[in-house]
Formats: sequence, structure tokens, C-alpha cells
Amino acid sequence: MSRNLLPITLTATLLGTTAWADFPSVATDIAPVHSLVSRVMQGIGTPELIVAAGATPHEYSLRPSEAAALQDADIIFWIGPDLTPWMADAIQTLAEGAEVTSLMTVDGTTKLPFREGALFEAHDHDADDDDEHAHDDHDDDDHGHDEHAHEKHDDDDHGHDEHAHGAYDPHSWLSLDNGAVWLNAIAAQLSSVDPDNASAYFTNAAAAREEFDTLRTEINDILAPVRGRNFIVFHDAYQYFEMSFNLPASGAISVSDATDPSPARIADIQARVKDQDVTCVLSEPQFDPKIVAAVMDGSEARTGVLDPLGSDLETGSELYGNVLRNLAGALADCL
Ligand SMILES: [Zn+2]
Repeated sequence: MSRNLLPITLTATLLGTTAWADFPSVATDIAPVHSLVSRVMQGIGTPELIVAAGATPHEYSLRPSEAAALQDADIIFWIGPDLTPWMADAIQTLAEGAEVTSLMTVDGTTKLPFREGALFEAHDHDADDDDEHAHDDHDDDDHGHDEHAHEKHDDDDHGHDEHAHGAYDPHSWLSLDNGAVWLNAIAAQLSSVDPDNASAYFTNAAAAREEFDTLRTEINDILAPVRGRNFIVFHDAYQYFEMSFNLPASGAISVSDATDPSPARIADIQARVKDQDVTCVLSEPQFDPKIVAAVMDGSEARTGVLDPLGSDLETGSELYGNVLRNLAGALADCL
């Protein structure tokens, strides 16, 4: 149970919650998940955030305070091992007895297969037996797997083949539909541990889902003027957003787990920027801007910054919506 009794009691008093009881200690992986859980716990308590703002979740070293938050947790919400493989071990060793929800496994979650290769649209489809890529459940896609440059650079620049990862891209919080599905799953999990507050959790989740309907309209309005333009993203993290809002990227400089791109991959992207009418190349606050500069060399395309985690945003219940809103704004400005 929470050790932060004093500040939480004060918060509860300020909110006029008189019948406040204890509530579970909750830990979350990344700021967008922390935001969704904060929204569901609004008026009741505050979850802990494990991956500090500004850090990339793909590689991370737990600080002592973050390890303590895991150790203390009654409930843990995280995307799952494909995003934060290091956290699987930490949960196992530190959080024995906690209720652990991997949001990727929640019923109703849209899961998209990893994309392979730097360029995303279908190229000459030569049906070269794609071994390990879970093709059976998405035959209708054209994610350019045929391009997957395994042979060109099998130097582990797309880590997920070699490791015990699942087949799915873990950046699933960038689908607003997933956020909405997870609100209910979060409310259900919190309620099972803390039934006294169940009605508050579900009321908060329902209110947030309504806010998401408004947000969807707002984002579609922001993006409407730039639909159909071509852009390149920094790491392959955005396919959930692209799908949700019908704004496909032309390619990604770096692979989905954000390891450094191979020279071959950079060359693919440079060629794409020149050949296609790529209007915009987007960097990210967490990664080395020199790589973007190399890709842009000699190009007229504009640059912008996408932040899939909300590193510069205030954490809390508003962050999730602001991450998606800011992605749309950055794309509209750059395109
Ligand atoms: Zn990522």
C-alpha cells in the first residue's frame, strides 16, 4: 500500500473526497501508460512512473527509487516485454505478488506486426517466404516485409528477430482505440484489487473515453490539410498512429527498437527522400540528431520533431492526449 499518505490525503481533501480510504500502490512503465492510469485513478490516488521522462524505454537502467516503486507495487501496468525487455526481469525479481497487466495482451487491443525494412509501401512482391514474421495473421498488409533487408545487414540492427520477442510492434499506445480499450482494462484491474473504489475507477474511465472521441475529431481536423504528403520518421514507432489517423509514413530511419540504422538502411532512406516527394523528415528528442542530418544531406525536405513518449510534457492524466495531439501538430507543421 502507498507510503505517500500525507500528500495523498491532502489531495483528497482538496478534491473534496471525504470518504477516502487506502488505495493500491500502482507502478506504470512509460509516461503515456502512467497518464491513462492517472486518469482512471483521478480523485483516488496517483501511480508511480518507472521510465523517467526523456529516456527511451527500449534500453534503460532502473534507478534505486524506480526499483523501489516496482518492489512496492500491488499492481503494475506496462506495455509488455517487446517494448521494455529489461523490465520483465525486474518485475519477476522485484514485484513478486503484484498483479501485472501487460496492456498488449488486453482483449480488444489492436496489435500490428513489426515492419521490416526502411521503406514501408509495397515493393515488387516476390513472395520470398517470410519465415518468422507472423504473416499468417495479416496477409492483407503491405508493410514491405518483402524488402526486409535481412541478408544485407544481419548485424542485429533490428533486434527482435534474435531475441525472444513477440511478433508485434509494441508502440501500441499511439492508437487512440487502444488507449480507450485500456482505460476499461485498467479500471477493471484496479477495481479487482480495490473494490471500494470500483465505481470511481469506471466512472473516470468512461469520462476519459468520451474525451477521446473529441480528441479523435480534433486530431483528424489537424491532419486533414496534410493527408497524402510523404514523410520519414526517425524510428519505426508510429504505425499505430498512422493507422488510427490515416496518415502513412514513407519510411523510418531506424528500426522499431531504435537501435542505430545500418549504412544500407540509411542509403535506402536517402534514396527515398530524393526519389519520392518527401516533404518532411522527423527526428525525436531521445535520439541522435546527427543521423537525421546525414539522411537530409542535400535534401530540401523540412525537419520536425516527433515525441512518442511526451518527454517534455507534464506527467499526469492529460499527458496521453497531449502526446497524440502534439504528434499531429508536429506533422501538420512539418508537412
Ligand atoms: Zn520506440
